Order: sequence, then structure tokens, then C-alpha cells
Amino acid sequence: MTAQVSPEFQALSDIKAIQQDRWCEQAKYVAAASPFYQALWQGIAPPERLEELSLLPLSDKSMLRTSQQNHPPFGDYLASSAELVNRLHRTSGTTGQAMNLALSAKDALQTALIGARAQSAAGLGPKDRVVHCLNYQMWMGGFTDHCTLEATGALVIPYGVGGTEKLIRTIQELEITAISCTPSYPKVLEKVITEHFPGLQPHDLGLKLGLFGGEAGLDDPAYRKRLEDTWGFKVRNANYGVSDVFCNFASQCENNNDLHFIALDVLYPELIDPDTAQPMAWKDGETGELVLTHLERDCQPLVRFRTGDIITLTGVGEPCACGRTAPRFRVVGRSDDMIVVRGLNIFPTGLAATVNSFPELSGEYRVILEGHGPFDHLPLEAEMANGIEQSERLALDIGDAIKRDLGATAKVALLDHGALPRTEGKTRRVIRK
Ligand SMILES: [Zn+2]
Repeated sequence: MTAQVSPEFQALSDIKAIQQDRWCEQAKYVAAASPFYQALWQGIAPPERLEELSLLPLSDKSMLRTSQQNHPPFGDYLASSAELVNRLHRTSGTTGQAMNLALSAKDALQTALIGARAQSAAGLGPKDRVVHCLNYQMWMGGFTDHCTLEATGALVIPYGVGGTEKLIRTIQELEITAISCTPSYPKVLEKVITEHFPGLQPHDLGLKLGLFGGEAGLDDPAYRKRLEDTWGFKVRNANYGVSDVFCNFASQCENNNDLHFIALDVLYPELIDPDTAQPMAWKDGETGELVLTHLERDCQPLVRFRTGDIITLTGVGEPCACGRTAPRFRVVGRSDDMIVVRGLNIFPTGLAATVNSFPELSGEYRVILEGHGPFDHLPLEAEMANGIEQSERLALDIGDAIKRDLGATAKVALLDHGALPRTEGKTRRVIRK
């Protein structure tokens, strides 16, 4: 008997056949059981062939929001009976309206197994002890990520947020090898170590692996290097997901900085032009908005769902050195975080790379936009590194670097070290007033 090969290692031709089989079943199910898609498709039967999926209209987050407002609590995109719902997550979006994410037992199990593929690709396994430091209260990043970590076979310590001094002692006493948290959390830890543990350095804690997600700045090599030098651990983006679709379906491996899309057998991806919504080719070098379709989902199946994430495809068709056939991509930004300056599309990720190339800065920054634009320059606030004096020269140099790297004119205001807030969750880089 041969060992089962996990789908992210299988030949893409085999995966294509699996996708097609699953879509046949899922299309029938959605057409029969989802009032939301019945209305959106206006009685037209979904195409049998996946290649013809673009004949169907797109769906998006605002439609789901309206659906939940009109049909609380699950929305009329609930395709199963309410009794089948076995787990409920709530996320508070930027609009403040909480979204209710319903999973059947099967949906939840699949979510854990797919997430585990991503965490495994990032280097986590049965030999590890991982402390999970995300908020467990209702959202997916807490409990559901916990389940993905466990499904790798690692020993998982459920920690949650806060209690940073106790966390440092726990890491020491249990000889923990890996930490799962937001990319901005290590800075909070560093501050507490400096204040409460004299003589201790972050790398003395012996962590070997930092598993992060949730913030795009992590893909910046300079930011990662700074973290790796301070902590002595490998920094991996282990956790890319879209809450309405899958909690975690992409991660970096030890060989490649790009994210591996490890859910092809259960999730069908497309690329569209974010402005015109027209389909784009799924090939290396293309940049567009990621659109996703569930191929196996009980409770809230989505078809041609616009994620709002702009990605660039980097590894389609060629397997990675790690052996995974999974296509690779980079997240360029959110379509709604995009700042248009004199016709140029600027994303905070691009800005982070430039900001982090200055050792005089702490790496914390934000863009404050007044009004709706159009904007003729980028108003940037950047924070100084600890112990470094501000200078007009430096502000001008940063402005020049942004012009060189992104093409936009920036007005740079330097702030004292510590002036910008450190958060345990997502740090907002673009503030609109
Ligand atoms: Zn790889």
C-alpha cells in the first residue's frame, strides 16, 4: 500500500480532475439549496465545466453583509439546514457589522486540515511546542487557527492575548519552540522583556519558528530580517486566509518567500481585473484580484467570491523546491487599501519595504488621508528607531526613496520613538479622515 500523497504535492492534472468532480456535485447543491445564489443566477443553471465558471456573476462581501442583514443570523447563502451548523465565528469588519460565519462539523474539520497543510509547509510539526497568541474570542484566528496548529501534530498551548510577562515565563519553562501571533506582537514582547526581564534578550528564549499572518508587511525581506536577527527564529507567513472562505489556505515554506496556495482540491481560484471585473489569465506575473469558489462546502458555500485581495502569481505550473505543486503568489494589497496618488496605485506593503530599508526608523508608519482625494502626494508619518535623533535630511531621504521605489511624491513627518501605537491585532496603516 502506498502512502497517501497530500493534495498540495499531487500532479496538477490529478488535482484538476478532483476539482472538476467536486464542482459537479457542489454546483448542483448550491443551485438547489442556496436562495442567495438562486437569486443571483436568476434561474440559470451553473456551468458543468469549471473553465466556464466565469459565465456566472461575481459575488462580494457587501452582498453577504446585506444577506445577513435581511436574513439573520446566517444570511440566505446558508445552503444547509440551521441544525447542521456546528460552529459559529463572528468577525467585525471595517464597517462594524459583525459577520456570522457558520461551519458544519465537516466544514470545520476540513478547515483544520487545510490550515494544517499551510502550517506544515511553514515548518511546524509533531516535534514542536507552539504557543498560540491570538485572540480566542469568537473570531477564526483564535480557536480555528488553534485547530489548524493541532492538526499538524504539534503540541499546542492555547495562550490568547495579553499577559505578556507570564507568556515570557511560559515560553522559558515549557521550552516552547514556536510562536503563533501577529507580526506586530514581537515588538510588544521586546518592550516587556526590556522593562521586566533585565539581562534577557529575545533570542535567549530559544524560539526557533515564528508563525505569523494577518499583515502584509511580513512579506518585506527587511522587516523579516530585523525580526530574525532580534529573535533568532525563522519568520514565516504561515497563515493567509479569507475569513468568509477559508481561515488559512496559503503559507510560505523554507525555500520560497511566496505563499503556496495549498487548497486547490477544495477551493477554485480565479484572477480578475479589479477595475473591470474581467477574467485574467492564471499565469506567472499576472496581478489581479483573487476570486474564490468553494468546491466542497456545507453551510455557506461561496461561488466566484471577490476577496478584495490583489495578488501577483509567481509560481504556476512549476513545483517549488519543497516539492509542493501548489501555485505560488504574493499579496500586493487590498483593493480598498489602495491609495491612488496622481494615478499611481500605491499599497501599504510597497511602502513598508521602503520604510524598513531605513535603519534609523523603527518600522512603524502610517498614512493619514484627509477627505476622499484625489491625492497629489502621500502624507506619511514614520517613527524613529530607539535612540535616534530626527533630522530634516532623513525626512527628505525617505521622500526620495519613496519617489524612487513607488514613483509617488511623499511628504514625510518624522515622529519620536514610541509615538505610534503598538497593537496585538492588525495595525492599521492607512487612516482615512
Ligand atoms: Zn515550497
